[in-house]
Amino acid sequence: MTKPVVRPSVLAIDPYVPGKSGAPGAARVFKLSANETPLGPSPRAIEALRALAPEIAAYPDGAATRLRQAIGAAHGLDPERVVCGAGSDNILALIALSFLREGDEAIYTQHGFLAYRIVILAAGGVPVIAPETDYRASVDAILGKVTERTKIVFVANPNNPTGSFLPRSEIERLADALPSHVLLVVDAAYAEYVRREDYSPALELAATRENVAVTRTFSKIYGLAGLRLGWGYASAQVVDAMNRVRDPFNVSSAAIVAGVAALEDKAHLSAAATHNERWLPWLTREIEALGLEVLPSVANFIAIRFPLEAGRTAADADRFLTARGLVLRAIGAYGMPQFLRLTIGSEEANRLVVAALGEFVASWRAAPRAAHG
Ligand SMILES: *Cc1c(COP(=O)(O)O)cnc(C)c1O
Repeated sequence: MTKPVVRPSVLAIDPYVPGKSGAPGAARVFKLSANETPLGPSPRAIEALRALAPEIAAYPDGAATRLRQAIGAAHGLDPERVVCGAGSDNILALIALSFLREGDEAIYTQHGFLAYRIVILAAGGVPVIAPETDYRASVDAILGKVTERTKIVFVANPNNPTGSFLPRSEIERLADALPSHVLLVVDAAYAEYVRREDYSPALELAATRENVAVTRTFSKIYGLAGLRLGWGYASAQVVDAMNRVRDPFNVSSAAIVAGVAALEDKAHLSAAATHNERWLPWLTREIEALGLEVLPSVANFIAIRFPLEAGRTAADADRFLTARGLVLRAIGAYGMPQFLRLTIGSEEANRLVVAALGEFVASWRAAPRAAHG
């Protein structure tokens, strides 16, 4: 008896493993493993959800018109060229499905966001990995991987899990140098957190060029990860393709009303950015002062490097912190087994992490190096 045959590229996908969210036995748990905001969603978004409750028997507006208009108004964009999705993961998948034929290549970077690999393989494409330099994407290395079969380049800017970014000038240089048939996708999931003059989420490039698309999300600074809401901005041709491929009702009515309300609450957005602006440098400094290396980050998380000696590794730190209810993200799957990624949390969580890391480092002195085999 034969069985239905799964496409080989689908079987090449390693299912995405999310960060842990629990810490068995700990009295209180601080989840610092998924880059969620410690401020939670806007109270206006919560209110909009409550008000929606009696209406949920009705299908949503499949075109998400109100939401696209609100996004257009908030960012100065043409709403006709906004596509909404169930998270930006959905937008990334629509792009891959629209542009990759079996065997086509799509490039992402060495420590780049793993969702790219999944959507490339799911579409039948071939993932091509460009090396990074010091945990930062390299435009020249990306260009070095381009072939006749390349259809898409995915760049997370800033990147997760490294926290590094490419300045506007480098993204422009990449867009200029890529062959015109290659679509550059700039995933700007953390754009709202970046406080750098030389950074841009590249919306102006997507507005003016046929071969640049930008993806954004409501999962991070807006605190709506559970509702699944993201969007893309691209040329009319790219948007038309995505609208053909997407599920007719890919964005729920809950996501639409909460997204519109969240965009209206500018004070909440700026409070979240201000919180990060304060605690990102504080955590970086305090953790470096313990003698641990922290990769410079412009986003709402940092990657912390641990030694290789037994008792001091990232896995040891992960166990030590988890036992204290502090749940960080192991990022071995990103080629960074020496690191843990820490999301900037509430003041209480941040102070507890620094104290616990201090204890962890102090425990090394109690257990001399010679102890390892
Ligand atoms: C979290 C994250 C996203 C957002 O994914 P959603 O599907 O919108 O929740 C996108 N890109 C990167 C790099 C991320 O870290």
